[in-house]
Amino acid sequence: MSKHTPMMVQYLKIKAEHKDAFLFFRLGDFYEMFYEDAIKASKELEITLTKRDPGQKEPIPMCGIPYHAAENYIKILIGKGYKVAICEQVEDPKTAKGVVKREVIQQITPGTVMESNMLSEGENNYIASLSHFQDGTYVVVYNDLSTGENQLALIKDGWDAVIHELYNQPIKEIVISSNLPEDLQNQLSERLNITLSYQDEVNFNAEYRDLCENLNDERLMKAFSRLLNYIQQTQKRSLDHLKQAEIIQLHHYLSLDMYSKRNLELSETILKKGKHGSLLWVLDKTVTAMGSRMLKKWLERPLLSKARIEERLDIVEEFYQSFMERDTIRESLKSVYDLERLAGRIAFGNVNARDLIQLKASLERIPELKATLHQFEQARMQSLADELIFPEHIVTLLNESLVDEPPISIKDGSMIKDGYSEQLDTYRDAMRNGKKWIAELEQKEKQETNIKSLKIGYNRVFGYYIEVTKANLHLLPEGRYERKQTLTTAERYVTPELKEKEQLILEAEEQSVELEYNLFIEVREQIKKHIPQLQYLAEVVSNIDVLQAFATVSESNNYKRPRFVDNELCIKNGRHPVIEEVMQDNTFVPNDISLDQQKSILLITGPNMSGKSTYMRQLALTVIMGQIGCFVPCDEADLILFDQIFTRIGAADDLVAGQSTFMVEMLEANHAIANATDKSLILLDEIGRGTSTYDGMALAQAIVEYIHNNIKAKTLFSTHYHELTALENSLPNLKNIHVRAEEHEGNVVFLHQIKDGAADESYGIHVAKLADLPGALIERASTILQQLEGNDKPSPTTEKIEAGQLSFFVEESKSAKKEKIPVAGEKVMKELKDLNLFEMTPLEAMNALYKLQKQVTK
Ligand code: ADP
Ligand code: MG
Repeated sequence: MSKHTPMMVQYLKIKAEHKDAFLFFRLGDFYEMFYEDAIKASKELEITLTKRDPGQKEPIPMCGIPYHAAENYIKILIGKGYKVAICEQVEDPKTAKGVVKREVIQQITPGTVMESNMLSEGENNYIASLSHFQDGTYVVVYNDLSTGENQLALIKDGWDAVIHELYNQPIKEIVISSNLPEDLQNQLSERLNITLSYQDEVNFNAEYRDLCENLNDERLMKAFSRLLNYIQQTQKRSLDHLKQAEIIQLHHYLSLDMYSKRNLELSETILKKGKHGSLLWVLDKTVTAMGSRMLKKWLERPLLSKARIEERLDIVEEFYQSFMERDTIRESLKSVYDLERLAGRIAFGNVNARDLIQLKASLERIPELKATLHQFEQARMQSLADELIFPEHIVTLLNESLVDEPPISIKDGSMIKDGYSEQLDTYRDAMRNGKKWIAELEQKEKQETNIKSLKIGYNRVFGYYIEVTKANLHLLPEGRYERKQTLTTAERYVTPELKEKEQLILEAEEQSVELEYNLFIEVREQIKKHIPQLQYLAEVVSNIDVLQAFATVSESNNYKRPRFVDNELCIKNGRHPVIEEVMQDNTFVPNDISLDQQKSILLITGPNMSGKSTYMRQLALTVIMGQIGCFVPCDEADLILFDQIFTRIGAADDLVAGQSTFMVEMLEANHAIANATDKSLILLDEIGRGTSTYDGMALAQAIVEYIHNNIKAKTLFSTHYHELTALENSLPNLKNIHVRAEEHEGNVVFLHQIKDGAADESYGIHVAKLADLPGALIERASTILQQLEGNDKPSPTTEKIEAGQLSFFVEESKSAKKEKIPVAGEKVMKELKDLNLFEMTPLEAMNALYKLQKQVTK
């Protein structure tokens, strides 16, 4: 072990307290990192790894970044889910004895960033905490530090429900107890990809009393305290903007498990993980960032209460019908800044005068917004208008105190208006008078010396000076002028009275800048007192924004207001909101759907690519749109309220996403079966694909039967197992439907129309043709298909099916010898085709197979 320098000893001590973060250790103009931190950071940030004390036997790996560029590097690390601890010099190096004192002044973590360039505008940035209790319950707490919101959910249905709930939210970081079992911790970090942080102290801190007032359950208090303690310990700044905890009753919302949320691409697509192509992308006609975040929240928790849905729909309908007023509202909203996050930053103390001017500009829109809403006659619109409370006192304060275009810095003055502070006005008078006096002095000097080019200037080093060109020097009287600086063409002088005036001006300037800073802080503190009012206003504005967005998208995409009924779901000419948006040319084919108690399961058959998956998702998306209070894509809709939606989307589809395993498929199916009720909607798309044919078919059938007999959930079930269409005979509540396709001159034409009854043929080969596989290959496949179907006509190419080898997938031979399929083969194929597998036990199947094999090997 080599002996460390005192500074390294200090480093190691601080690092030991911040093991899970990159320690940015301030050294002069740099933040340095050492050892493991340096090695990892040099990779992640692509910066050079160097060594400290390179002469030593064991030099220390090191890398550094200039302090003024730190923000960008921090952003990269946070974006990758890491934490950063900022360690500053907390005493002046010039006066320090020994090693300069250093302390971690802030920890920046993925869930606690506040800097607006590290946050995405339209999305919340949640930090969560998870607590588990002896009685088997879990409590999840969400906090968005940038907006101040706090939400709590008590989960009684076990760990699986926790995962599904957490998956639903954009969580960047989760605070847990170090006692949480390791495998559960791994699931959080690996399955959900959330940064873990630990906080074991859950004792209630009296400082939070106001935030917790409404929590009457000790578990909730503890869980909330875990999160608040963590935030307090890492942030070390004012958290005055945090809102009172809101308890989320999960059973008040339509529940979507993580699979459904992913499969239905509500807010991001599976493939590209982006908003483009998701339902959110279609619906997001909000104007403000707050509205965009609110919409995302509504999508994450569709409603179950008919009354609340109708309330939203009523307002959407009003907006829908009043284009002019809606347009006026959209215009007003355009100048409304992110009030919610602004309130957070006011509390944190990191706003400048420009931010407050933006606040003012936003607030000034409120009266006109209110007036527009008051123009509607409906009572709901009137009360919406009444909820908008114009904070006149804040606007007045800002109007009186701040100039219209203040600088970015709050330390250079020029922010405060004349007339706001008497003291400031005196300083400013002194400055202005001083400057006027100097202008007069210039005139006077010119006249007295008769030097026309004489001028008075100012620079930072010498202050005010009188400048005389060399050619005119002889005109200057002796004695009064003191030389300060010599230029090539001129000399600069000062006089005692100029020095004296300069002193006065500079003092006034300095004092006024300091005073302006203090006045600004005062204004900010004044506004801070009204943060709850601003937050409430932000919420009402966000609501208005989302509702006008619904009206806007409903009008432009021709959506209709749904009715909510008790029994029979019935949609006329329904459409898929995203696909129709992507297909610009109005070519989407609308389809009807109806589901009721008598026919609660629809079994959908039809060729590949005909539109089965689209039809199923279309229903789920329509249901969700209806339950968030938006109009829906169709001509007419009677919807029923669903309590949960479950989806299992076919292996073919998630093969693309690179995650198809039969196990995943079964997990998702099981999740649906275990949790669905007769009020749920289940979409099972080509289940059983991930395993061998009979296995898969048997499971698919058993699942349909189980849902039919035990769960009675409304179910759409698509399948490529044609045999399953026979179930219509044995299951009274099941109905066959199919997607129509027509064959036209040897090509398949997809009509994308849903019809009653089962589909007849498989059009797989035609799809291959559409995909441009080589002509010879397509022809060969058609031949094989014909053979499989038993009506074998010899193809122009050669089959080499020999008596000893029952091969369906015959190699193509280059020789042109024509050969009839041996008689045994024909017979075997016919027998094989006629087997009714559904009525055979595995043993019977083995026997039949044995018999067939005998026939071809004899
Ligand atoms: P399947 O599940 O039957 O294989 P999909 O639902 O995946 O078929 O649909 C395949 C493609 O057909 C979709 O990507 C879409 O472009 C198109 N399609 C599906 N339904 C319709 C429709 N109703 N109108 C127009 N195009 C459709
Ligand atoms: Mg499909």
